[in-house]
Amino acid sequence: MTGQIFNKWLIWGLSQTLRQRLRPALGVVLGLVITGALASCKSQPAAPVVSASPGVTVTGEAIPAQLQKLIDTWNDPALQTVKAFQIFDNLYYVGIDWVAAYVLQTSAGLILIDTLYEPWVDHLLTGMDELGLDPNDIKYVLVTHGHFDHAGGAAQINRRFGATVVMTEEDWALAREPASIPAFAMDVPANGQVAHDGEIIQLGDTKVELFKTPGHTEGVLSLRYPVQDGTETYTAITLGGVGLNFSGVERTQSYLDSYARLRTEIAKGASVSLPNHAEMGAVFERAKQLAQRAPGTPHPFVDPEGFAADLAGFVAAAQNKLNAEKSGTAQDPLDALKSVLTNQESEQETKEQ
Ligand SMILES: [Zn+2]
Repeated sequence: MTGQIFNKWLIWGLSQTLRQRLRPALGVVLGLVITGALASCKSQPAAPVVSASPGVTVTGEAIPAQLQKLIDTWNDPALQTVKAFQIFDNLYYVGIDWVAAYVLQTSAGLILIDTLYEPWVDHLLTGMDELGLDPNDIKYVLVTHGHFDHAGGAAQINRRFGATVVMTEEDWALAREPASIPAFAMDVPANGQVAHDGEIIQLGDTKVELFKTPGHTEGVLSLRYPVQDGTETYTAITLGGVGLNFSGVERTQSYLDSYARLRTEIAKGASVSLPNHAEMGAVFERAKQLAQRAPGTPHPFVDPEGFAADLAGFVAAAQNKLNAEKSGTAQDPLDALKSVLTNQESEQETKEQ
């Protein structure tokens, strides 16, 4: 089974190195695939979201049963519930299984990194409560990109707590496009702040540096900020978009350019990876180690070599994709997704026999 998952992951061109380092849950892999593949359908004119009913796209096409089943797993509490936990003195995980969200604590309030989506926004807020973090203290919401799984809760958090939502111009526009599938429909804040490359958001004693790293979407926002472990301070990076679920030579080249810049400039000297999908930085495995950490031993999230290897893996995968795009052999993301789901189903049947 695991081997099969790895083969499927290969569709997205991930390298051997990465496959050894990461054990991607199928849900995450497919989630990345779907949010990208279907987002790419978004550019067609579509009817307003409200007119869509479950089970069909806004243009009235039936959503494939396997795909619907997968979408259902994203809303299944048994699969998605993760108890919120602390990672550093000033940094907390408040996400679910397949999508991450973090809270950065400063001397003048909280910065929320990504917002999940409905029905998970209350889960995020409850998690904050359990950790002693007051959602009324959220001053900024930094959204890594405009797909529903990261941006879907932004409007509600803005409305309820008055936090300023920050996203790049490209991804404000992306978030505002009508969703192709009802499950991806989201409320977008009426007002917010446009993020620019190189900009700094300062809140109290903490500075978060914003970097535009296009590829996964046209306006991916990656973040650099300090995390505290006792007397030690480390530089953390939140990669704003890793998945290769998009098409085209130009777009793939922009991904490669972004990751080249991450390796040589943005993430240079950074030792902590806190990506917006936990699997991409082995967040849960590290959290287990952290829970059992003996006093005076290294923090399991501080892993500069591991992070460098992850970045190298992402670049190698994107390079493979670029070659395929150039030679015209790259698979359409949605077709690839369908074949993954079909294989998964026949695999399931074989297992059941
Ligand atoms: Zn995405």
